[in-house]
Amino acid sequence: MLIDQAKCVACGNCIPVCPVGAIYIDPAAGRARVNQDECVECHACYRGMSKEHLWPPMVRAVRRVAKAFRFRFDPEPDICPTDALTPQELAWPRIVRRAFSDPLVPHESTGIHGRGTAEVKTNDVTGRVKEGEAGFVIEFGRPGVGARFRDIQKMTTALAALGVEFERQNPVTSLMSDAARGAIREDVLDEKVLSAIVEVKVGLEQVPRILRAVEEVARQVDTVVAVGVSTRCAGDGSERLTAVLAAEGVPAYRGKTNLGLGRMAAVGGGR
Ligand code: SF4
Ligand code: SF4
Repeated sequence: MLIDQAKCVACGNCIPVCPVGAIYIDPAAGRARVNQDECVECHACYRGMSKEHLWPPMVRAVRRVAKAFRFRFDPEPDICPTDALTPQELAWPRIVRRAFSDPLVPHESTGIHGRGTAEVKTNDVTGRVKEGEAGFVIEFGRPGVGARFRDIQKMTTALAALGVEFERQNPVTSLMSDAARGAIREDVLDEKVLSAIVEVKVGLEQVPRILRAVEEVARQVDTVVAVGVSTRCAGDGSERLTAVLAAEGVPAYRGKTNLGLGRMAAVGGGR
């Protein structure tokens, strides 16, 4: 995102809208600017604010006069008074930021809007995680911190060393140059995104090792990490994952159960 320096009147309204604190007022220039290294191209500032088309020299003059008389002339807080926020054409690799940060942009690897896949929410139909397996979603960057792929790679290489299977349809997997090693393409490692999700699948017996590895790497990265884990229940509704987590000292609740209501009724022309 750019801010048109000819239009901006430094009202500061857009600053609290940015989820990663990338917008600041440059006191020397008397304009707002975007820290391009921190901006994740989420477009929250551009989409989230109403726009007026006031003449910038007039707004600046009124603000100067108001200041001289010790009162303020500020636009309504949800308005950019001069339509100064300006999206920029994004090229590779910066375009990756938008794909992972703007929920209205479909990710080309999955066709799903935003940063992830349907994860295990549709496991009753897809059967990605089977009985005796655990599906992990490891999320980086939320809320309001963001994450760089260099940090995400620390996790993916640690997990790859444990022999995990990365979900092929996942956007982070699509950026890997070597999924066997968990290596992410060199040219995107410094890109920052609002959040990203790594999805892996392992046998239930490996769950403790994965949890310990995630905890260890989470201490080394400059972002926040959240973990979700799921399994497929047996026909009688039982499962072994909760006991495995309890043995690791992780308080576990069966928070969400998909009942199979989305099961395909017809396969290969049958009934
Ligand atoms: S809201 Fe518009 S005019 Fe105000 S600081 Fe932001 S870009 Fe500049
Ligand atoms: S596009 Fe998003 S990250 Fe960039 S300045 Fe706007 S709100 Fe902040």
